[in-house]
Amino acid sequence: MKRISDAFAFARDGRVLKGTLAISGLERLHDLLTRTDGELAYHLEGFKGARGESMLRLVVTGVLPLVCQRCLEAVPYDLDVDSRLELVPEGADLSQDELEDDTRDFLPVARELDVAELVEDEILLALPVAPRHEKCGLPSAADAGERINPFATLAGLKGKPN
Ligand SMILES: [Zn+2]
Repeated sequence: MKRISDAFAFARDGRVLKGTLAISGLERLHDLLTRTDGELAYHLEGFKGARGESMLRLVVTGVLPLVCQRCLEAVPYDLDVDSRLELVPEGADLSQDELEDDTRDFLPVARELDVAELVEDEILLALPVAPRHEKCGLPSAADAGERINPFATLAGLKGKPN
């Protein structure tokens, strides 16, 4: 379990933490996947924002075998998480303006930060709601696609040079 003992110090000091996480350990993702082996790479970097705020940048890459909503087979999904999160003390009162500001993503933390949990949260936000194959191999869908359309055949003949 990877933990940062003081997330604010991590940001202030511009520290970097990177490595891999086993998908088998990211349990909240398991229902969405056809298999849970393999791993994801993450890169977490602390920095100070323009207003002096404590920031984290999290990049997560890897391929997740999502369950196709039509045929239930795997749809390989190229994960491309790149989040910038503004650390705020847990229980901090954010103003209405801050809460409504779409350009800022707040992350309330006590001090300690569970990296795997954060990675899991950000992946869940990034995933498509209803993943499915662009050309799904479900039998009924494939049959419909292969049925010969007489008009298409005619059009094809018309297009041919004499
Ligand atoms: Zn499918």
